[in-house]
Amino acid sequence: MDEAEYICPSCGEPIVIPIDVSIGVVQEYTEDCPVCCHPVSLRITCRTPDDIHVDAEHE
Ligand SMILES: [Zn+2]
Repeated sequence: MDEAEYICPSCGEPIVIPIDVSIGVVQEYTEDCPVCCHPVSLRITCRTPDDIHVDAEHE
């Protein structure tokens, strides 16, 4: 498992999430921010384990 970080669009806190790079190059899912509990839509692009990009948007 690798890790990636995004900034919550609701509360602005940095959130660290585990990334399973074996699942696929692009992953999209929604999770609740562990700080403010607002749903956040995540789009994770990982071309290599060293190149992980996370886009976070308000759900
Ligand atoms: Zn938040």
